[in-house]
Amino acid sequence: MSSERIAVFPGTFDPFTNGHLDLTRRAARLFDRVVVAVAESPAKGALFPMTERVEMIRSVTRGLKRIEVVEFSDLVVDCARRVGAAVILRGLRAVSDFEFEFQMALMNRKLSPSLEVAYLMPSLQYTYLNSTLVKEVARLGGSVKGLVPGMVEERLRARLGTSRQARAAASAESPAQPARAPSAGSSAKPARTGTARSRARPASRRRARA
Ligand code: ADP
Repeated sequence: MSSERIAVFPGTFDPFTNGHLDLTRRAARLFDRVVVAVAESPAKGALFPMTERVEMIRSVTRGLKRIEVVEFSDLVVDCARRVGAAVILRGLRAVSDFEFEFQMALMNRKLSPSLEVAYLMPSLQYTYLNSTLVKEVARLGGSVKGLVPGMVEERLRARLGTSRQARAAASAESPAQPARAPSAGSSAKPARTGTARSRARPASRRRARA
């Protein structure tokens, strides 16, 4: 293992939000190198393909020192080993994150006892933010300004613009349809990955990337 203090920050990042960026910046002050590891997550049905997620994060973090971006499709512990990280970094936004993260941390410890998991909390303004909610707001035509980097905002518009136009055309044809709004219901819930590899969880079962 290298003498550098290296942390791996795994996630789906579909897309990378200002909350992720906030955490990455904080981590860069604590570690010699922070490796943002983008999970393949095939079953999570990512909006952005892996190459685009990686490209966006590279572009957004270009001005930051000590940040690297890699992709992975296996266990987080294997990714950590590859990049020489002794620490897995995760974000804790609310108590609701805790149970899932606790399970993942213990599973990762079982898989790789020498790896530690560190948690950072974002700025208060990003504690309610998750990629799923951002996509839903963007999909329904709401503004995500200030929630994601400008480049991500543009990419969301480019990717979702067409479907929004199609929906607008469809609702013009059937005006009786009620307008949808982001709700606290299942569609706004973040589908999370966990410890091992990114795999979609059925609603009834928590899933994780270890
Ligand atoms: P995952 O599917 O692994 O949860 P995400 O891309 O949703 O992937 O999140 C990756 C990591 O970033 C997780 O540790 C998550 O807690 C953290 N995170 C997500 N959104 C925020 C935010 N707004 N502020 C801080 N951390 C966040």
